[in-house]
Amino acid sequence: GCSAHDGHDHLVKLLLIGDSGVGKSSLVSRFTRGKFRPDPKPTSTNNIVARHVCVDGKVFKVQIVDIPGINSSYSDISTEVLSTNGALIVYDVMSLSTFENAEKWYKELQIANGEIEVMLIGNKSDLVNDFVSTTCTDAGKELAERESLGFIETSAKDNKNVEKAFVEVVTLIFEKLI
Ligand code: GDP
Ligand code: MG
Repeated sequence: GCSAHDGHDHLVKLLLIGDSGVGKSSLVSRFTRGKFRPDPKPTSTNNIVARHVCVDGKVFKVQIVDIPGINSSYSDISTEVLSTNGALIVYDVMSLSTFENAEKWYKELQIANGEIEVMLIGNKSDLVNDFVSTTCTDAGKELAERESLGFIETSAKDNKNVEKAFVEVVTLIFEKLI
């Protein structure tokens, strides 16, 4: 089985993209360390971490590049984009402007590298309740359907769908490999 495996069958490189404050570093921390924000420092340099996941009986070493949120512009990611297999474009479900920027990020990515598998992530789903608008959920679904992207809502805080989000993008990448 997968867990007895020492090395890995495939190496995949993922980029986390999205506005500052949407929860990129929190998602990475939850996925790689099983913790919510153990490190309160905002990311100042590209943080690269890795974890193994098992998909379809194969071991994937998932290398994740967490781009600093502050002043991130396309020029900050352009070199990374060329060598990446997948991207998680993250927005905050409570913030329409972060969703609008997610769409911009997606367009930039498409121009730079059309081969990237993209997963659209609406994070902070724990903050959505009956009293707040779910505009961002509908907008996210619509964009994902239009562009054939994976789409999932996550909560790094409540550990909801975080594992699933990463496994799904690895699965999309794997399906293209075979
Ligand atoms: P980044 O700039 O995209 O890396 O965002 P961070 O991971 O630094 O998170 C920004 C803020 O949002 C921090 O205060 C986090 O604690 C908070 N945050 C991140 N994910 C969630 C979540 O799923 N739910 C809630 N309620 N807050 C979150
Ligand atoms: Mg960060």
